[in-house]
Amino acid sequence: VRIAVALVSFWVAIPGGWAGDVALAPGADWILYDGDILAVDPAFSRHAAIAIGDGVILAVGTRADAEEWAGERTRRLDLDGKTVLPGLIDNHNHLLLAALASGSVDLSGARSIAELTAAIARHAKRVPPGELIVASRAWHESQLRENRLPTRRELDEAAPDHPVYVPRGGHTVILNSRAIAAAGVDADTPVPPGGKVTRDEATGELTGEFIDRAIELVSGLLPPPPDPGEMTELLMAEANRMLAAGYTSIRDAAVEPPQMRLYQALWEQGSLPLRIGMMPRFEPLYRPSNLTADEVLEQVESWGVRSGFGDPMLRIDAVKLMVDGGFEGGLMREPYAEGSGVPPDFHGLQLVSDDKLAGMITGLNRAGWRVGTHVVGDRAMDLLLDAYEQADRDQSIVGRRWTLEHALLTRPEHIPRIKALGLVVSAHDHAYVAGASLVKYWGAERANAVAAVKDLLAAGIVVGGGTDWPVVPYSPFAALYYWISRDTVSAGPLGIGQRLTREQALRMYTINNAYITFEEDVKGSLEPGKYADLVIIDRDYMAVPEKEIRDIRVMATMVAGAWRYRGGGLRIPE
Ligand SMILES: [Zn+2]
Repeated sequence: VRIAVALVSFWVAIPGGWAGDVALAPGADWILYDGDILAVDPAFSRHAAIAIGDGVILAVGTRADAEEWAGERTRRLDLDGKTVLPGLIDNHNHLLLAALASGSVDLSGARSIAELTAAIARHAKRVPPGELIVASRAWHESQLRENRLPTRRELDEAAPDHPVYVPRGGHTVILNSRAIAAAGVDADTPVPPGGKVTRDEATGELTGEFIDRAIELVSGLLPPPPDPGEMTELLMAEANRMLAAGYTSIRDAAVEPPQMRLYQALWEQGSLPLRIGMMPRFEPLYRPSNLTADEVLEQVESWGVRSGFGDPMLRIDAVKLMVDGGFEGGLMREPYAEGSGVPPDFHGLQLVSDDKLAGMITGLNRAGWRVGTHVVGDRAMDLLLDAYEQADRDQSIVGRRWTLEHALLTRPEHIPRIKALGLVVSAHDHAYVAGASLVKYWGAERANAVAAVKDLLAAGIVVGGGTDWPVVPYSPFAALYYWISRDTVSAGPLGIGQRLTREQALRMYTINNAYITFEEDVKGSLEPGKYADLVIIDRDYMAVPEKEIRDIRVMATMVAGAWRYRGGGLRIPE
C-alpha cells in the first residue's frame, strides 16, 4: 500500500508526463465533475472535480486538473452540484451481530409499549406455537412514550403461546414467562456476580429483566447460529445496508475468533464490499468467562497474529476488552439517580477485577497487541486509566493509539491522563436515542456531561465517531446531527456546551477514524494517492438547515474506485 501511494504521488507530481514513458497507461477510470467535493484535508478544502484510477485518487481540484488524467478508458459523471464526502467510517459497529440478528423482530420503529408488543404479536402469528421469538437489539426504551422496558406480563399478552426473548442493547434482556420457564429459571435461582435481575417490589416475582452476567442464565435459549454459508449471506446483506448508508469502512467492535472466518470467506472470494477492521474478543459475548489473566493471554497468544495484520480490505485491530456495563450499568463514582429503579447505592457494574484488568492489559501490551476497551462510567475510567498507565510503565504504549470505546463520562482530570498516554477516543451517539434513560439513571447533571467530545478535541485528543449498531441506529447522518446539535430523540438537547462544528463532526467519521487504525495516510480524506472511497449525498451537508442533516440520503457509494451502491437520482455510466 505504501509503495502504491508513493508511486501515485509521483504520478501526481508530473501529471500527463507519464503515459508516454512506460507501458502503463495511468488514465483515470472515472472523472467526477461539477460537484461540491469536501476533501476533509487539513485545510478542509472544497473542489469541483476528482479523477480516480486503479482504485486510488489521482487528482482533486478543478475540472481541468481532473481532465489531465483523461484517457481512453475514462468514464465521466456529472455530479450536478451534489456534495461528495470521503467514504464514511464507523469505528464501532457490530456488523456480525447485526447480521446474526437480521431474522429477528425489528422494534426500532416502536414509539410506545403498545407498538412494541404489537410488533411481537404480529411476528407470533407467523411462527408455530412454542417456537422462540427473538427481537432485534436495535431499540431503546427511551424511544417509547412510557420510557421503560416492557414487562414479562406485557410480553405474555403479546405472545401467550411462544417464549419471547427481547434483548435491549448488549446488556439487558427481557423475557416472557414461557421463556423464563424454558430457561429453568425462577425467583429462587441464584444470580451470578456481575449480574442483576429485577423483581416486583411487592411480590418478589421476576419482572423478566436480566442484566449483564445474569443473561448467562437465559442465553442458552437462543438457537445455534446459522451455518457458515447462511451466515456469509446475512453478513453480505448487512454490509450492503452499510454501503447504502454511506459507509466504506467498518470497525467491527467485537468479533470472536471463529467468526473471523466469515469475514475471511468473503475476503477470499473478493466479495467483501467494504473495508473491515476486526476487534477480536476472546470470551463469548455476554457470557464472560472465569478465565484468569494468564489464561486469557495464553488464548490470545495461540492465535499467532496480532493487531495490524491484514490488507486494505480486512485487518485485525485492537483486542476488545470491557470494564463496566452499558449506561444503565456503567461503573460510577457516585451512585445512580434515586428512583431510577436500581437498588439504593447502586454504582454500576464492574465486569472484571482491577487485578485481572491490569494483568490482561500489561500482557497484551507485551505480546504486541493494541487494546480497545469499553468504558462508560467515570469510575470505570479511573480503573481503566490506572491499568493503561500500569502497562505503560512496563512498556510504553504512547504512539500505539490504544482506544477508549464509548468513554461516555470523562471527568476534567481524566483528560491530561488520556493525552499523556496518547490514547484515542471512540465516541458514540447513544444519547441521541437514549437521552431520557441517561437522565433517569444518571440524573440531569451527569446526563449533560455525557460524551464531552468538544473538550477532548480542544485538548488535542483525536476523537473518532461510531454508532454501536445494532445497539444504536446506524445512520451516520443521525450521528452527525447529534454531535452538531446535541439534540436527543426523547430528552431535548443534552450537553449543549459540547456542540461541534459540522467540520469537526465530519472529521470524526472520516480522517479521525482512519487515524485510530493507523490508516490516515491511505483513507479518511479525498487527496491524491488515497483510496478512492467516497459517497455522494443528496444535499449540501455544510449548508442544509441543522435538522435536515439527519435526513441526508446517500445517492452512491464508491469503494476502491468501484461503485458499490447506486441509489438512483444520478446517471452513473456502467
Ligand atoms: Zn459496542
